[in-house]
Amino acid sequence: MSVNYKPMPTQVICPNCQQTVLWTKESAFKPFCSERCKMIDLGDWASEKHAIAGEDVQYVDQEDYLEH
Ligand SMILES: [Zn+2]
Repeated sequence: MSVNYKPMPTQVICPNCQQTVLWTKESAFKPFCSERCKMIDLGDWASEKHAIAGEDVQYVDQEDYLEH
């Protein structure tokens, strides 16, 4: 008796067109189904809903944290 382990790929819904998209490393545009949907959504995102406020990333200084 062999174990047939076959992981189920995660599925997401494309926010733009509501298509089912497999969440795999090959899906370069996830959660979108395609580059087209991604660009449409990003364009919408950048132009109206949110203002681009520049890079404001809080960076944890791991070297300092791991100092010995
Ligand atoms: Zn789509």
